[in-house]
Amino acid sequence: MSLNAFITETTIQGAADGPLDGTTVAVKDNISTKGVPTTCGSKMLADYEPPYNATVVEDLLAAGGTIVGKTNMDEFGMGTTTETSYFGPTKNPVDETRVPGGSSGGSAAAVANGDADLALGSDTGGSVRAPAAYCGVVGLKPTYGLVSRYGLVAYANSLEQIGPIAPTVEGAAELLDVIAGPDEHDGTTRDAGADADYAGAATGDVGGLTIGIPQELTDGADDRVVERFEAALADLRAQGATTVDVALPSCEYAVAAYYVIAMSEASSNLARFDGVRYGTGGGFDGNWNETFADARADGFGDEVTRRILLGTYALSAGYHDKYYKQAQEARAWVKQDFDETFADVDVVASPTMPVLPPKLGESLDDPVQMYLADANTTPANLANLPAISVPAGDADGLPVGVQLVGPKFGEETIINAAAAVEQ
Ligand code: GLN
Repeated sequence: MSLNAFITETTIQGAADGPLDGTTVAVKDNISTKGVPTTCGSKMLADYEPPYNATVVEDLLAAGGTIVGKTNMDEFGMGTTTETSYFGPTKNPVDETRVPGGSSGGSAAAVANGDADLALGSDTGGSVRAPAAYCGVVGLKPTYGLVSRYGLVAYANSLEQIGPIAPTVEGAAELLDVIAGPDEHDGTTRDAGADADYAGAATGDVGGLTIGIPQELTDGADDRVVERFEAALADLRAQGATTVDVALPSCEYAVAAYYVIAMSEASSNLARFDGVRYGTGGGFDGNWNETFADARADGFGDEVTRRILLGTYALSAGYHDKYYKQAQEARAWVKQDFDETFADVDVVASPTMPVLPPKLGESLDDPVQMYLADANTTPANLANLPAISVPAGDADGLPVGVQLVGPKFGEETIINAAAAVEQ
């Protein structure tokens, strides 16, 4: 397809009747599909066909969904634009000269373009919410442990969750109803959610709801984004919600802490890819070390290589305390900041992304600039909290997303508030 939203197109039919009967779903290409390529956007796994389905894929099929394809993504989820994919970038359906956001850019673009009714992405530091915001659709990152990660190819285990992308809040909530709940294959899942009714929570009844606004997450955002954000807040107040200022001073360190932790976990997770069983399949000369070094250099792209190197450095003796340990301390501070804030407010609101979708090609030369675009999304991952991005109108013809973060397992609260923004 012209947007390059899919790496593989499929028709995998689910059970005959269920809540997703007649619904098409696109699945990010780092979520395992039995016998169907699951490339993670990487040359390393270009030929990899998993021998089993991820739990969320089993859930989709049991609910009667039809999987129409595996979607394009930044290589192993490492990026905010879907440009680091080995299979080339995805275009933003709203403006094809721009990026769709990432790393689940193919999933968001497919939904925004009407190529799938619903989609699954994964969100380690914003990868569901960023593309949802840039493509003008809804994306939800669940509380850590609400949705099984069994069959999700790991980038940074302690941070990531699979989450739904949909044209509407209700659609995202319906998909969450299908995938939420404990899984014996993933020991980090929790019981919460099994009896919840997420779709039923999308009422938009915000009378009496208190919304906290952290200045730290609006300072520095593009004026056009802030204008849409303020308009959404005014709307919420008109519907009966109260907005109050809150302080999240730790969030200033969120991006730095996130990247140290994510790269450290990635360096360990990606050590398993030796290029022997999948990928370019050998053909390299030399001893053990040389062969694997050559296979890995050949199979991984620049951004993934950079992160493995930086993550290995951050974990190495002598630097561990300086980087990894400090990042963990910052992470604990972010958690504590949110805990204290949720004693006073029901949800925390901010723009999802501080900027409008960049032009294709613009972000690749300056990785640090790309990392900074994750300033507002990474705190929820560090604190393991649920967060949703909901469209809040356009600026210069480009979509702007508002992010609502809730307390642990507070999905129903953020779904309800997001429905009010949508109205
Ligand atoms: N942009 C962030 C990163 O590159 C988040 C990616 C993600 O959530 N997978 O790490």
